[in-house]
Amino acid sequence: AKETGRNTFQFYAAAMNEAALQRVRLEKHLRNALERGEFTLQYQPQVDLHSGRIVGVEALLRWQHPELGAVAPDKFIGLAEETGLIVPIGAWIIRTACAQNKAWQRAGLAPIRMAVNLSARQFAQRDLVKSVARVLEETGLAPEYLDIELTETIIMSAVEDTIAVLNDFKALGVQLSIDDFGTGYSSLAYLQRFPIDVLKIDRAFVHDITHAIDNGAIANAIIAMAHSLGIEVIAEGVETEAQCEILSRNMCDEIQGYWFSRPTSHEAIGRMLEEGKCI
Ligand code: C2E
Ligand code: CA
Ligand code: CA
Ligand code: CA
Repeated sequence: AKETGRNTFQFYAAAMNEAALQRVRLEKHLRNALERGEFTLQYQPQVDLHSGRIVGVEALLRWQHPELGAVAPDKFIGLAEETGLIVPIGAWIIRTACAQNKAWQRAGLAPIRMAVNLSARQFAQRDLVKSVARVLEETGLAPEYLDIELTETIIMSAVEDTIAVLNDFKALGVQLSIDDFGTGYSSLAYLQRFPIDVLKIDRAFVHDITHAIDNGAIANAIIAMAHSLGIEVIAEGVETEAQCEILSRNMCDEIQGYWFSRPTSHEAIGRMLEEGKCI
């Protein structure tokens, strides 16, 4: 038994070592990724349920490494956060996304919002609002076409400071959204303290919507309460027409998900806008 115990230990030690090594390797690659131009952004449409038209897109980060291939955000965003690399990467994301949105407008396409995800680490940067203001100025994008997505967890982390930063963002004129709503511990009543424009219902609730037990009850309640606070609602992860119909019946404002379009290139979005692709 002692032998097995030791073998098991050695096995775990080796596995842990391997995991730690992999992390170090990934971190090394991540440090070089920005200057080597390995990042791109994809854009996923957000569609208005009243008009059926694209009214916004969410920018989503993609990393293509020459040896590792495509690395999913779930595999490296956490590491980028821990190492602080998310700060320069995040600055690149905001700049690229704003410049892209302005480029669509310059091409004569109907203006849409650009949603950008902010990480906790970025949110803690003292000059965050100023640097966003600078990007808007330099790219020439009007603030109302930028939408900052923050998770509940970020918002709840340091309440007083948070309210000040959010107020500065509102003074700048950008839109503020709460991402993954329903996965944290905040209530809508609590969120009333923050100057939020949009709430994104997490895809877990959207998934349950067509299931007999739930029948859209949770999504319905979230939508009704958000509206009573003057907050718009986007449903995330909409994969079927049935989900879209229920959300539409429940007065959801916008949908985002594979059913309408997967995240895609700026060229593909440009074509959708040009052709007036709608539901
Ligand atoms: P998120 O902000 O909740 O982004 C939505 C995720 O859901 C995206 O995954 C998107 O591809 C996926 N998705 C969209 N429609 C559907 C659908 O119908 N069904 C399903 N199953 N999934 C759908 P992605 O791009 O892999 O990103 C994962 C997470 O990584 C994001 O979740 C976000 O937390 C983070 N992330 C991605 N890009 C960025 C970024 O630029 N900055 C920061 N800080 N985080 C990012
Ligand atoms: Ca998001
Ligand atoms: Ca989300
Ligand atoms: Ca709207």
